[in-house]
Amino acid sequence: MINEAKIDILSLSLQELEKAIVDMGEAKFRAKQIYQWLTKGAWGAEMKNVPAHLQKKLDDVFEFRLPLVKKRLVSKIDGTIKYLFELIDGECIESVFMKYEHGNTLCISSQVGCRMGCKFCASTLLGRVRDLTPSEMLGQIISAQKDTGERISNVVMMGIGEPLDNYDNTIKFLHLVSSPDGLNIGLRHISLSTCGLVSGIEKLSNEGLPVTLSVSLHAYANDVRSEIMPINNKYPIEMLLDACNKYFEKTGRRISFEYTLINGKNDDTQGAVSLAKILKKHLHSTCHVNLIPLNEVKETRLETSKNINNFKNKLLSLGINATVRRRLGSDINASCGQLRRQAKEENK
Ligand code: SAH
Repeated sequence: MINEAKIDILSLSLQELEKAIVDMGEAKFRAKQIYQWLTKGAWGAEMKNVPAHLQKKLDDVFEFRLPLVKKRLVSKIDGTIKYLFELIDGECIESVFMKYEHGNTLCISSQVGCRMGCKFCASTLLGRVRDLTPSEMLGQIISAQKDTGERISNVVMMGIGEPLDNYDNTIKFLHLVSSPDGLNIGLRHISLSTCGLVSGIEKLSNEGLPVTLSVSLHAYANDVRSEIMPINNKYPIEMLLDACNKYFEKTGRRISFEYTLINGKNDDTQGAVSLAKILKKHLHSTCHVNLIPLNEVKETRLETSKNINNFKNKLLSLGINATVRRRLGSDINASCGQLRRQAKEENK
């Protein structure tokens, strides 16, 4: 991983960097200059207003490494870019750059692999290797901005990994990414997606961070949810929805639910009625249901639903706000976790 003798500079807040710079006998204002360069992905001689002796000193004390672009797939249809990034220890993660009318969005990873075991997901097939550091989460955004030359205004934590299973690093990342002296991406422009770690949701509701919480629900009954998402054995649907309700009551932020439609598992129209019923029973606010056509992963043998519109219309008729997620980058189809898996296969 990162060279242990050196400090990972991108994981520092401005205040922490200021302290380190003053301890090095340098003027405090230098920290802000350096911080702004880091945000642009610049280091060493690229930091033009930082004197050469300080550039050298920084290099002796700190480690600055951005995720390297190992593979880059660009959609000819809509400009979506899928990145395979290589980290300092050779492990790979994925990020996806998407263009929307309201700005550019980057979907980032929070762990190398995942241990949540969701049956339809490619990211979890090989388990979890390690957590990402705050700087590796931030670095995905800096590298993507550098590569595209465009500003990223929205971030979704929906790539490889479970952010609430890497709780402390995720919280530190949220502070760093929203820092006005750093990337300055507002927390309201950030969505954090979880498979439903209730203890993490409860902790997050006390952090005072106005991110949008997306909860991967994917089923309207416990037997089906436990079958496709092992986390449901620990935190069944009722417990999860109660935690979502408390989250809303504490933060005033409405919850967004992700619901991947899988043929014959969770997509029958009657199921939409059950879904509407449990949402209304447990939540004292409106919510949004984001229906996702299953991205087929060959190892799972699960198929995408043929009943998407009926399911959506039933929810709408029952007063539940539901939309079907637009599929960006359909010509570079490599659903999350698949690029990393392919790269591992190729390196064998
Ligand atoms: N661990 C977090 C975030 C990563 S996954 C979570 O579980 O929410 C982001 C979203 O993509 C989740 O809703 C996840 O369930 C969904 N997903 C994973 N694999 C998928 C697939 N093959 N097709 C459609 N959605 C998938």
